[in-house]
Amino acid sequence: MSTQWAEKIQLESSVKKQPELPKFAYFKGSVVPYVDARIGLLTHALNYGTAVFGGLRGHWNEAEQELFVFRPLDHFRRFVDSARLLRMDLGQSPADLWLGLRALLRKQETRTDCYIRALAFYGDETLGVRLHGLTPEVSIVAMPFGHFVANDDNAHASISSWQRISDNVLPARGKIAGGYVNSALAKTDAQLAGFDEALVLNDDGHVCEGSVENLFVVRGGVVVTPPVTQDILEGITRRSVMQLLRQDLGIEVVERPIDRTEVYLADEVFLTGTGVQIVAVTRVDHRAIGTGRMGEITSRLRPALAAVVRGQDPKHRDWCAPVFREGTKG
Ligand code: PMP
Repeated sequence: MSTQWAEKIQLESSVKKQPELPKFAYFKGSVVPYVDARIGLLTHALNYGTAVFGGLRGHWNEAEQELFVFRPLDHFRRFVDSARLLRMDLGQSPADLWLGLRALLRKQETRTDCYIRALAFYGDETLGVRLHGLTPEVSIVAMPFGHFVANDDNAHASISSWQRISDNVLPARGKIAGGYVNSALAKTDAQLAGFDEALVLNDDGHVCEGSVENLFVVRGGVVVTPPVTQDILEGITRRSVMQLLRQDLGIEVVERPIDRTEVYLADEVFLTGTGVQIVAVTRVDHRAIGTGRMGEITSRLRPALAAVVRGQDPKHRDWCAPVFREGTKG
């Protein structure tokens, strides 16, 4: 079984077309051709994982001929906070970073759905494991969006044997590059075993996240998600979805730790993230969740969020920052 899946995955990745490289990058405070934004082999972040990143999305609105970036100031606030965990002073505010991103998207004429990767990294070409006496650099690139999770309407997840990093080991609250090896271990083992996604347990044995997504379970009409003290990333999509559920759909949301067997017994399970948006998990460890098909709340939420991020829901228009028209609101 696993050999079969390994072969399938290998085949898929060999035939998958590599996305084209971006034309431009925001690098060291200005927009430059992507090929000119280079780093050396000794770069501290490359050797020791001393970088933090942000992942944002731009959504093209055809009717308005406009690209909307979703909650850029919130994303960049978290980015600056992640950098602070690594003792980085970026010298750029969230508003400065949004202006840099907007300049990049304008220069690149990005008029399509895209994924945006911001990176703050120690750029010194020097040896020595430490966080002091180093200089942070910032880069941002944007590329056409690709799918992150196969079967996002019918995903089969497994509980990973890899445990989530904890706050006193390597804070999951920050998007710290080195910490993502933990997500990569969980994700690859899940995929090689034939699953679409991994769910991870934290230090105290509760199910806290997907490999790169926040977790929600529905039990008896109530939506439950782990609180931010459960070794999760404080997801922007998580926060948005909680607001949509409570205010727009009138559904109760409770933040509390989640037991493994609550996931197995849930009526619905879904994952949220910038890359994936909302993934319906319909099986976990070969057990059907609810009916084994996408449930009612997930089915209502997915189109609601899809409209919001494209600037099509007037109630949440302030979450969408236009790129090409004037105004810098994030
Ligand atoms: N958890 C982890 C570990 C992640 O990497 C991500 C992706 N950024 C998320 C949750 C979802 O966060 P967001 O909704 O802000 O993308």
